[in-house]
Amino acid sequence: MLKGKVAVVTGSTSGIGLGIARALGRAGADLVLNGFGDAATIEALRSSLESECGVRVAYHGADLATAGGVESLIRHAEATLGGVDVLVNNAGIQYVAPIEEFPVERWDAVLAINLSAVFHGTRCALPGMKARGWGRIVNIASAHGLVASAQKSAYVAAKHGVVGLTKVTALETAGTGVTCNAICPGWVLTPLVQKQVDALAAAKGLDDAAARAELLGAKQPSGQFVTPEQLGALAVFLCSDAAAQMTGAALPMDGAWTAQ
Ligand code: NAD
Repeated sequence: MLKGKVAVVTGSTSGIGLGIARALGRAGADLVLNGFGDAATIEALRSSLESECGVRVAYHGADLATAGGVESLIRHAEATLGGVDVLVNNAGIQYVAPIEEFPVERWDAVLAINLSAVFHGTRCALPGMKARGWGRIVNIASAHGLVASAQKSAYVAAKHGVVGLTKVTALETAGTGVTCNAICPGWVLTPLVQKQVDALAAAKGLDDAAARAELLGAKQPSGQFVTPEQLGALAVFLCSDAAAQMTGAALPMDGAWTAQ
């Protein structure tokens, strides 16, 4: 379905980004991976995706905390694979603290990676998409793009910002063949969330299974984690012709978290 298209997935060395990259690769897209990690592990991942999916897979380790980093990622994709047809803005970080104790440099980092990088990626990729008359931008927001939780001021502000930016991007691209949507996952058991499970286990003297159950029980009525594979399937659908008129949406996949 996506044969001949090039997909850039930010933060795809781990978790949700990796699940989405794999799903897009299986659908036939050439891939540009991005994110941090051990060089040998990333190279093994790159070549295993290449043979598993039968597509070209490149990697660029840009730090998306700066405008220049995001720009270099998009330019690398254009130079090595010929353009960016699908941009999945996924890279993100979390920091948990009450507002009055929130370290200013953590606020700046969360806003830079979770929100500004989405703007810069979109800004850099749009001219090529518009010129080709086809493009898909998928922004990984969060249930926290729709509702709040205490102690996550920067994350919630950034993710609400991503939902707003998604709507503006959809309006500015309407009728051009480019769509832009946000996916709003609930809890997904990735390294980002395991850190929060570990903090809860330490704070309450729980074992890992009990901490996971408590984390889910507090927010996600299904009591089950969303998986990267499920999110990957939704991203592939958003890239399909069936979704050509779906744009500007913020789509929860959250076990009824935001239905409450
Ligand atoms: P993760 O920690 O497993 O992966 C994050 C990825 O982003 C990694 O590849 C990491 O290397 C990369 N990254 C981090 N900082 C970067 C930077 N400065 N430059 C480039 N890459 C960087 O996290 P995840 O849970 O897979 O989260 C992915 C996205 O999904 C994030 O935007 C997160 O906010 C969102 N999300 C996660 C959940 C969840 O429950 N896990 C829920 C809702 C939304």
